[in-house]
Amino acid sequence: MENPQSETAPARGSSLDKIIHRLREMFGEDRAVIASGSDFRIDDERQRAVAFPHNIEELSETMKLADAERWRVIPAGAGTWLEMGNRPTRFDLIVSTAKMNRLLEYEPADLTATVEAGVPLLAFNRMAAEHRQFIPLDPFGDKRSTIGGVIATASSGPMRCAYGAPRDWLIGATVVHADGHVTKAGGKVVKNVAGYDLCKLYAGSFGTLAVIAEMSFKLRALPPCEKTIVFYSFNAESLCSLVARITDSDLQPAAMELIAPSDEAPLPIETDKFALAIRFLNEPEAVDSQAAEALKLGSEFRRAILSVADATGFWQAYHENETSPHTEFIFRLSALPADLNALIGDISRTLPRSNLRAHAANGVVRLHAGLAWLDDLKTKERPRRLAEMRRLVQSRGGQMVILRAPDEIKNQLDVWGDAGQTESLMRALKDKFDPQATLNPGRFVAGI
Ligand SMILES: Cc1cc2nc3c(=O)[nH]c(=O)nc-3n(C[C@H](O)[C@H](O)[C@H](O)COP(=O)(O)OP(=O)(O)OC[C@H]3O[C@@H](n4cnc5c(N)ncnc54)[C@H](O)[C@@H]3O)c2cc1C
Repeated sequence: MENPQSETAPARGSSLDKIIHRLREMFGEDRAVIASGSDFRIDDERQRAVAFPHNIEELSETMKLADAERWRVIPAGAGTWLEMGNRPTRFDLIVSTAKMNRLLEYEPADLTATVEAGVPLLAFNRMAAEHRQFIPLDPFGDKRSTIGGVIATASSGPMRCAYGAPRDWLIGATVVHADGHVTKAGGKVVKNVAGYDLCKLYAGSFGTLAVIAEMSFKLRALPPCEKTIVFYSFNAESLCSLVARITDSDLQPAAMELIAPSDEAPLPIETDKFALAIRFLNEPEAVDSQAAEALKLGSEFRRAILSVADATGFWQAYHENETSPHTEFIFRLSALPADLNALIGDISRTLPRSNLRAHAANGVVRLHAGLAWLDDLKTKERPRRLAEMRRLVQSRGGQMVILRAPDEIKNQLDVWGDAGQTESLMRALKDKFDPQATLNPGRFVAGI
């Protein structure tokens, strides 16, 4: 599907200056700025107006003003990943929750917390670590990533293997709708929900349904001990069969990442072989017994047990590497975990020489490539190969999503791919929640 033609300039009569003036007049000088460069970058260098409400009341008033002026709005957290998705067909104003960053309630004894959407996930987890607790999410991305942004994008990282997706930890959300009215879904206690839990609808909606203002979470106890083992092989197939053996066993790894041979593999990983990095997080006895069992299951493989310092360095570098500014392409491909080896085969034939990493237990593969890779796939060949890759993934019941790519690719290939039978349901939800298409128009699946 082609991208809809974009028309990203502000609406007539709504120049940046006028928007900023109206916001400052209503809320004060510090509540609106004109951003440029990498701050709140959408996908080009044009200047953009950003509003910074300081609490839910101001957020609601800001949305009422936008509704009255017919401004199209991009909800944002820290604005670190606004390039993700299709280019919005029009926008006038970015509304950031970055200044809504208060911890509203925290009950360590109940393992629950309520935060404003702009609290950075990292900052929250540092604070909760004092009580030996955390929200067990480790998405790739910038340190400033807000919890609201992580929920809106349903972002997860290697620990998804044990702890699932953001929606699994969300128990309640208060949102501001496109016309400024406020609603709550779910609650602040874990067992509060009967029937369909509406707050989960916002997880992964990419700011197209409402602006998330406040959220309640259940937390996990922080595991006191960890161990990382790396198994090596010259072929992916044997490591995929080890993944299947581990998945079928009683072992509960926190992460299982499959890394293809690459000069860019984070140290101390050997770069000439496939590596399967398995991380255990638990009580010391459980970590030791699970690691021993994993070593037994993978006894035929060359392996390394990382020291605590090496493991810390490795997982940190693994995260940083994932979002390196030198990476021009990032694609996310999903398949059934049982099909992972077959998917890796499809990839090596269709898109050779891209860097491959996978959340092996979940069947999620991430492909990276730098600009040189573009030259390898000759100009006309590029979109054709990518479309072919998408077709292969879809034939296995999976999806291929473009997380990052130069405009020349994004202009020719839809970021999300075919939504299939869910499209009509998603359109109906959008019409119900945001009938005037005020929020992030065109950004999401099927141009929603
Ligand atoms: C370079 C890079 C690579 C990344 N790669 C991955 C990856 O591979 N996998 C992955 O899962 N995540 C990835 N992420 C995403 C990351 O984990 C966070 O989800 C993201 O950065 C959120 O941070 P933010 O607060 O800056 O959100 P923003 O960049 O401000 O917003 C991101 C999206 O969420 C919406 N949004 C933000 N806040 C709200 C809100 N309060 N209400 C409604 N909508 C909102 C925005 O409209 C936008 O569509 C990546 C991020 C970066 C910067």
